[in-house]
Amino acid sequence: MSSLIPVGDGPIARCKLCGKTAVGPCARCQAAVCGDCCELTEGGATTFAICLTCVKRGGSTLAPAWLGLLGWLALILLPLAAIAVTLRLLLRH
Ligand SMILES: [Zn+2]
Ligand SMILES: [Zn+2]
Repeated sequence: MSSLIPVGDGPIARCKLCGKTAVGPCARCQAAVCGDCCELTEGGATTFAICLTCVKRGGSTLAPAWLGLLGWLALILLPLAAIAVTLRLLLRH
């Protein structure tokens, strides 16, 4: 009958830091963490859970990720804006 007893992790997600039953994924690295191994942080309209590993690495805010995204958007949008302005100037003359 021992074959009926699940061995290993089973269907329940385990916290990657302490092995307890996880309550949700980390907002940054998506690793499953329990309530003791994450910090809740306000991120706009919702509250994010961030694992302690990510907190140590970059603080408990999502600001760096947002700034990185904004940087990428700027890199994409700035040339487009420059082209749009140039075209508008050319069409006026
Ligand atoms: Zn934990
Ligand atoms: Zn994490």
